[in-house]
Amino acid sequence: MDSQGDVNPDPRRLLPAVDWLRRELERRRPDLPAWAVTAAARRVLLEAREKLAGQESIAREPAQPEDWLAPAAEAAGRLAAAHPRAVINATGVLLHTNLGRAPLAPGAIQAAARVAAGYSNLELDLETGSRGNRLGAVAEKLCLLSGAEAATACNNNAAALLLALNTLACAGEVVVSRGELVEIGGSFRVPEIMERAGVKLIEVGTTNRTHPRDYERAIGPDTALLLKVHRSNFAQSGFVSEVSLTELVEIGHAHRLPVAEDLGSGTLLDLTKAGFPAESFAPGCLRSGVDLVCFSGDKLMGGPQAGLVLGTEAVISAMRSNPLARALRLDKLTLAALDWTLSCMLSGNAAEELPLLRQMLEPAVEIERRAGALRERLEKAIADLGQGEKVSLRVRADRAPVGGGSLPGFELDTWVVELSADVGADTLASRLRRSELPVLARVRDRSLVFDLRSLRDEEMTDLVASVLHVLR
Ligand SMILES: *Cc1c(COP(=O)(O)O)cnc(C)c1O
Repeated sequence: MDSQGDVNPDPRRLLPAVDWLRRELERRRPDLPAWAVTAAARRVLLEAREKLAGQESIAREPAQPEDWLAPAAEAAGRLAAAHPRAVINATGVLLHTNLGRAPLAPGAIQAAARVAAGYSNLELDLETGSRGNRLGAVAEKLCLLSGAEAATACNNNAAALLLALNTLACAGEVVVSRGELVEIGGSFRVPEIMERAGVKLIEVGTTNRTHPRDYERAIGPDTALLLKVHRSNFAQSGFVSEVSLTELVEIGHAHRLPVAEDLGSGTLLDLTKAGFPAESFAPGCLRSGVDLVCFSGDKLMGGPQAGLVLGTEAVISAMRSNPLARALRLDKLTLAALDWTLSCMLSGNAAEELPLLRQMLEPAVEIERRAGALRERLEKAIADLGQGEKVSLRVRADRAPVGGGSLPGFELDTWVVELSADVGADTLASRLRRSELPVLARVRDRSLVFDLRSLRDEEMTDLVASVLHVLR
């Protein structure tokens, strides 16, 4: 680094050697894993060299080799961070696609862990010693819960729809209402899935109105399937009309055509008594006579990621023998968690044991009580920090959607703790997001909003600690 003598040195010569940076960082930050330090030292210096070669000015003059320690440490920290890692969901949205949707029940986690740690009878019939069916038990439980003639499961609902379309309509035409050609978060678009499934999409109706005669007119010699898709993440109101599943089944069966519904967020438990809309109840859809219903395992079902399919024996056995089924199949950990979840529903314990249902069904008065408790804890901790003057806290009633493309337009009553501070809500939200145990909250007006609907009691201590940390 003895470049002081040069009149006009190549700035690249001022960069430290990779090896020096690596060793220095290893010495100063023994908490960072060696592999991440090595990779980060290389990456940071390579990027700097490329920028300098391109005559781009770099943010800071590389005056001292030490100046490279901080960016390299940051890069190493980012590389070494586990992904995904746990976060605290204080948004109130119980099924947040970006936050991994439904939390798993402890029993489901244990079931998956037991299977993960050793060997299992995944595809072995222990009675006969011959090859067994990996999906048999789950299919049986799905039938018991739903009354379906047959059932199957695959990797997720997008896979279930792909498999259904490819099985029932490959090279044929599938009729769908224009009002149902939806895009769901994470770039799932119905028309694109249909194309890849090898079926031809026939759009009928208009965005806001589709009538039975629109389907009738579209049916021709190449029609293979009538499909209904749940809109999931939006609701239509005003001058709208759609063809009900029952009507669609009548039309389909009059033309000897199968009818399928992509329900998206489905349940096997009737939640209407608890005030939830009936639209997600998969057994209810089956009663219309539909040939197939598919939905996600990790939305309103409150289980692991999976695509659950209920239908007629003919349709389900055709799906099972489609070679794509192998490519879209469930892995053993998910299967164990799903099997446990279904057993839990069959024993009638779902409302107590599935975290999602517990959270969805928690009475608002109980949430209010917990919001009061959180406010008190925050108030005391913030006062102890000597910041009591700068922060204001209040508890109030609010409403939050369930999320995850479930029950569009439907919101649950909830209670929140609003925090406003001099630093500003956006700054606080961003600091909380980047804290050791990240906390996700809503920002409204100038306040940070912690929603107790999704915040669990066992997370409160961590939440308070994170808030104190970012207020310091
Ligand atoms: C969520 C959803 C899907 C995709 O389900 P994944 O389980 O995420 O693959 C497909 N269709 C509808 C209508 C949905 O709501």
